[in-house]
Amino acid sequence: MWTETYDLHSHSTHSDGEHPVEHVGHLMAGNGVQTWALTDHDTASGWVEASQVANVNGMTFIPGVEITCTPAHPPMDEELSKRERERASASWHLLAYFPNHVPGKTDESVASFLEWLAPKQDGREPRMRAMCARLETLGMPVDVEGVLARAEGSVGRPHLAAAMVEAGYVEDKQEAFERWIGDGNLGFVPHEKPTVQEAVNAVQKAGGVTSLAHPIYYGVPVKRLIEVLKNHEINAVEAVHRSHSDEYRYELMKEATSQGLAITVGSDFHGTSYQQHPGHMPIMLDALIEQIKHA
Ligand SMILES: [Zn+2]
Ligand SMILES: [Zn+2]
Repeated sequence: MWTETYDLHSHSTHSDGEHPVEHVGHLMAGNGVQTWALTDHDTASGWVEASQVANVNGMTFIPGVEITCTPAHPPMDEELSKRERERASASWHLLAYFPNHVPGKTDESVASFLEWLAPKQDGREPRMRAMCARLETLGMPVDVEGVLARAEGSVGRPHLAAAMVEAGYVEDKQEAFERWIGDGNLGFVPHEKPTVQEAVNAVQKAGGVTSLAHPIYYGVPVKRLIEVLKNHEINAVEAVHRSHSDEYRYELMKEATSQGLAITVGSDFHGTSYQQHPGHMPIMLDALIEQIKHA
């Protein structure tokens, strides 16, 4: 049995999304989403508001976060070319979900997870300053305070890209990434990241579950990838992601479920100006991560 009622990956202005939480929630509900997870980068600051918006719109809310980690496996050239990707991303994104947590309610184990997470989020600001310094040496001075002011929660590269467009250095955000601030480019500075294992341990301790986000970006063959996830006790893989082809979704789902892993589904919605839409991605209910099915 298939459903399109889940969307377990989305961003708001609490990280690098374009819309406030309330608007993201309305768009989700408007597209028929019934179980929604907000997964801003390295921050939980949107959870309370999101759970209220979900309530108003009759959706189940799953508190989530997308944790930026160091890669747990090097990319392989053959896999990258098979998936038509020039290079692998410099980090792995781990989605963490806390289906039993009620946002706003005191929960010591989740509180200690958030304490663990906080420096990762704070690490984003020094990194942004470093990237602005790089751009200045490249002849593109950007007002760093202005970039920081664009973010309500964690600041990210899309905020910088928007400032670069405004300053007239690039035509659009995509060009900013492709020419200057994308992984490995001259204006790019990596930020301090936990290992995948450290992140999994922190999430597990707080009663949460994990899913590896958008594996298409990492250049690891499916069979090997699922082995790595199993070795790290990751619960699921985001087989159904906006940027995955049907074929790749199916390959991941088949391998994951045959190895006892579940799958998750996520639009990775950042905003309508990116031509993105929440929800609308069918997922096989049997394969969906169990803890969230019953949330
Ligand atoms: Zn991501
Ligand atoms: Zn994301």
